[in-house]
Amino acid sequence: MLENWGRMKPPRILLVEDEPAIADTLVYALRTEGFAHAWASTGQAALGLLSTECFDLIILDVGLPDANGFDLCRQLRSRLQTPVLFLTARQGEVDRIVGLEIGGDDYVTKPFSPREVTARIRAILRRTASAAQTPQASAQAVSLQALQPPAAWDLDEERQRIRHQGIPLELTRNEYRLLRTFLRRPGRIFSRDDLLAAAWDEPEASTDRTVDAHVKLLRAKIRAAVPGSDPIQTHRGLGYSLREEQA
Ligand code: CA
Repeated sequence: MLENWGRMKPPRILLVEDEPAIADTLVYALRTEGFAHAWASTGQAALGLLSTECFDLIILDVGLPDANGFDLCRQLRSRLQTPVLFLTARQGEVDRIVGLEIGGDDYVTKPFSPREVTARIRAILRRTASAAQTPQASAQAVSLQALQPPAAWDLDEERQRIRHQGIPLELTRNEYRLLRTFLRRPGRIFSRDDLLAAAWDEPEASTDRTVDAHVKLLRAKIRAAVPGSDPIQTHRGLGYSLREEQA
């Protein structure tokens, strides 16, 4: 499927991956879906490209021959807001991405299907594009703001815990990731596909009804913790958002 980017320039993706077989598969998928791309097989080569060119997104392998993807991401974060999609090979790496504030936007676990990767890329680019279109602030201000959850909420990403009005919520992994997604962008309407891509490991294996069911459970848990609180808003035909007045 060739993505229709209209008259816009196609998004430019930097792929940082040392295994040629994986890189080839991804380069083929990126090209097929209409993305522009560059490939670096080491951290050093990636830094070189990033110092001279602009990219809309970076696909970053965690295990590189000359660098650790996490360290590289931290290094990049001090000067760039470019979204990062991690490629990981081990569950331990996933735990570090989810549990620590490494500054990655999403991750895909090897082995993956190229389709899964391009679906994640699109979801991340949609998120960053809609953040950039928010009229009251520049894209950078929005992405910095997004790290601060609304005052009624306390998002503890290291411990994967969320408090609402000071009350800790007992959440499953998916519920936590779902609510975290809302908290990072209060007011933003997320489609069910966005939410699947953001909060589920295998979005293709789940359906819109999975999202609906989890939102329902999440609402019930929030209400149980803080009676009368109903922060998640349904937008018919569009998806869900976190009410900004809850911020
Ligand atoms: Ca590798």
